Amino acid sequence: MDLVFAGLAELPTPGQTLSARNFETLPGGKGANQASAAAAVGADVQLVGAAGTDSLGDSALADLAARGVGLAHVKRVQEPTGVAAVLIENSGENIVIIAAGANATVGQSSVTAAETVASLNVVVLACLEVPVETVLAWARVSRERGWTFILNPAPAQSLPVELLELVDVITPNETELAPLGSAAELLARGIRAVIVTLGGDGARLHTASGEHHQAAFPCVPVDTTGAGDAFNGALAAAIAEGQSMENAVEFAAAVGALATEKVGARNALATRAEAVALLEAQQS
Ligand code: ADP
Repeated sequence: MDLVFAGLAELPTPGQTLSARNFETLPGGKGANQASAAAAVGADVQLVGAAGTDSLGDSALADLAARGVGLAHVKRVQEPTGVAAVLIENSGENIVIIAAGANATVGQSSVTAAETVASLNVVVLACLEVPVETVLAWARVSRERGWTFILNPAPAQSLPVELLELVDVITPNETELAPLGSAAELLARGIRAVIVTLGGDGARLHTASGEHHQAAFPCVPVDTTGAGDAFNGALAAAIAEGQSMENAVEFAAAVGALATEKVGARNALATRAEAVALLEAQQS
């Protein structure tokens, strides 16, 4: 969940007490946002994770269920639900403080969820708001089963080579790319597609056959929080449908652009029809 303090005249320095104009509790969390984005464009989605038994956990799961996200593999645990406190200055600059809480309990044993999936056509999308060892366990199981493993390496951190070598598609923004090496280095580790998201400048796709720039779609950005999550969820959905990497990136960029048009990470998640309408408007 995101606890959002908006309308600060300035961001705090130690010892200061500041007043925010607004406080809102909004659904959040990268994994949950990404799962919601994929479900919004019609994918069949199961979220693997954990929520606390507190009221934030109740509302997080109610929101996800209403969005059609499968929750059979989300455990309720005796820890606080993971939260992000988001402090937003009037200029739009922000500070985010994450307390992992229940997310830190998502362990390697969560891969037993994979045993319940009979389908061969599975795309696993992981981010780094759960422990890296857990992400590694999912990368291994994905490789064993021939599933596509997409890693959104956020929040930014350096990663073990063993994990990078099991990734099929990686989706850093420029800050997240820095600790991982260059796109060329990531391709040399065997990653098939490196997709660097560039905010209002779109995205860059690097593959063995070269580099392709995806322009950003026109939009009226109000809040870019969650644009990356919307992009990742839509990308995973498009890859699961068998779209080419270039088309999947284009589709994801459309969904990412639309996600900026309302406040909150999940308040402007595009439906399939909305994303297709934007793609068609751009092509005509
Ligand atoms: P993150 O939030 O992870 O840093 P980005 O800000 O790069 O991710 O946004 C993800 C994608 O969403 C971008 O690659 C782009 O396609 C789209 N997007 C984000 N901001 C805008 C914007 N202002 N205008 C158009 N598209 C945007």
